Amino acid sequence: MKTSIATVSISGNLRDKLEAIAAAGYDGIEIFEQDFIAHDGAPRDVGNMVRDFGLDITLFQPFRDFEGLPDPLRAKAFDRAERKFDLMQDLGTDLVLICSSCHPQALGGIDRAADDLRALGDRAKARGLRIGYEALAWGRHVNDHRDAWEIVRRADHDNVGLILDSFHTLARKIDPDTIRRIPGDKVFFVQLADAPAIEMDLLYWSRHFRNMPGEGDLKVTDFMRAVMATGYAGPISLEIFNDQFRGSSARTVAKDGYCSLMALIDDVRRQEPNSVENLVQMPPRIATKGVSFIEFAAQKEDAIALKSLLTSMGFAKVGAHHFKAVELWQQGQVRIVVNQETTGHAGTSWTVRGTSICDIGISVEDAKAVLTRATALGIEPFEQPLGPQELSIPAVRGLSGSVLHFMDNSLELDRVWELEFDAKTADHGAGLTQIDHIAQTMSYEDMLSWTLFYASLFDMKKLPMVDVFDPDGLVRSQVVQSQSGALKITLNGADTHRTLAGSFLAETFGASVQHVAFATNDIFATAQDLADRGFGALPMPANYYDDLAARFDIDPDMFAGLKAANILYDRDDHGAFFQLYSKPFANGMFFEIIQRCDDYQGFGGPNAPFRIAAQKRLLRTKGVPNL
Ligand code: MG
Ligand code: MG
Repeated sequence: MKTSIATVSISGNLRDKLEAIAAAGYDGIEIFEQDFIAHDGAPRDVGNMVRDFGLDITLFQPFRDFEGLPDPLRAKAFDRAERKFDLMQDLGTDLVLICSSCHPQALGGIDRAADDLRALGDRAKARGLRIGYEALAWGRHVNDHRDAWEIVRRADHDNVGLILDSFHTLARKIDPDTIRRIPGDKVFFVQLADAPAIEMDLLYWSRHFRNMPGEGDLKVTDFMRAVMATGYAGPISLEIFNDQFRGSSARTVAKDGYCSLMALIDDVRRQEPNSVENLVQMPPRIATKGVSFIEFAAQKEDAIALKSLLTSMGFAKVGAHHFKAVELWQQGQVRIVVNQETTGHAGTSWTVRGTSICDIGISVEDAKAVLTRATALGIEPFEQPLGPQELSIPAVRGLSGSVLHFMDNSLELDRVWELEFDAKTADHGAGLTQIDHIAQTMSYEDMLSWTLFYASLFDMKKLPMVDVFDPDGLVRSQVVQSQSGALKITLNGADTHRTLAGSFLAETFGASVQHVAFATNDIFATAQDLADRGFGALPMPANYYDDLAARFDIDPDMFAGLKAANILYDRDDHGAFFQLYSKPFANGMFFEIIQRCDDYQGFGGPNAPFRIAAQKRLLRTKGVPNL
């Protein structure tokens, strides 16, 4: 089985596209006619260039408005096809996609279409070529793969087959299981695309909003399971029309596509045993057990300021690295590594971004298995030279220059703090128990990449995207969390640098973690303890509390406590939620302290606009630029 991607899916000129596609690891491309026409080079040279990149041309597309035409249009359509056949032979590909006709003069009738395809099949056969017929979801007479299959079946020609496209089937809500009754050898090609669930014109939706399998809401896995159950053994190809991708980095989009394709094939292999040959072998999505540590790169006075902030929050230094300027600060289960090294990943991060979180340690069942899966998905492993007595902890590069380490209970990794830091036991501090969630900020167009990264590597689910209103623009927020809820990450996509999130991105040159939320079991006690330690909470305005009193029925004593301690409050059907924020530090990072009561599921979204306004007020008075 071959992996493939349509050249239309990514940005750049043909050579840029081929470079990116080859680097990501695909076997072949669908060449989109426009890409070929825009390229300055003869068809034979294009074919050779593709093969020089180690790629096959799996398909030439599209050939439109062919079947069902009355003469003389019909004869002209056959002439057009012959010219495409010439081109295909020069390029060196044997399969063309014929999409169902949208021509205003096309006539309906399954036998008429079958007759046309059979006649064209004869012409293709004479040249050793094949034709594949695809039902466009908006085709004039044929817009359902079941009708396209009936036409191909009646054409009854060795050189005529069916092309299936997940978008066209799933967008029209056609049951993908109907594919199971088609013989696999009559399916010539399979195209995959996902899309977000938006009600709109099918053609517009398809041309602008398709995305990688797993990035949208269509049941692409069910579609692919049905395809594989037919015994299909041809290429699996991504055909993604997406405005954002057309303007994004070719390499990123090609890599994301490869990652999504590998994850999908792995899912299908597990759910539809014996259907997929051993194209991929990887461990299943890994269960995460929470955040093991976060690591700050910080130097000089920034490091001193960070440590004093940590001290005011009840953290204590519990260990120091034997050979490096790296300290472990801890409270409850929250480990914060402060790395003051001037070389290596932390040194580079500090130089580029200033004080920022340069590394996240994720607790997992099996750290080596995560690395194996990551590598199979095309995610780059991270390594740097080990010092004396240093453990080799599996790690990968995330997006935006981030690094993730994977910690498990295997004897060695568990002992890293003891072995490398001589760490002593952490005390209760101010009552912070663990990391509740990590909030990462990225430009809106990078959000899909981040979501895909987490959702394809780990056993995590996506919650519905929500809009957060910053006074100066919109920020879109997507939660990905482990099935157990132990690891929760909020991804915030900023469109403009005028938002708090956007300004953080601009100030830090793309650092990702903007805030970390710590859990406490008693927010009021923690707030008092922090105040005693000199912690400066983010001041919330009286108007916020007036509004709160109007929105919720809150016990008067508790309400007074909230207001006195600048604690924010929210409630959902499951329970109540309390939040306390630090003042912003280091280019717009901040800490959050939360208490979840009963089974509160959210992240205090309704409070976000007021919290953001309060942070901006503070930053403005301090004269921080861009806010
Ligand atoms: Mg298609
Ligand atoms: Mg938060």
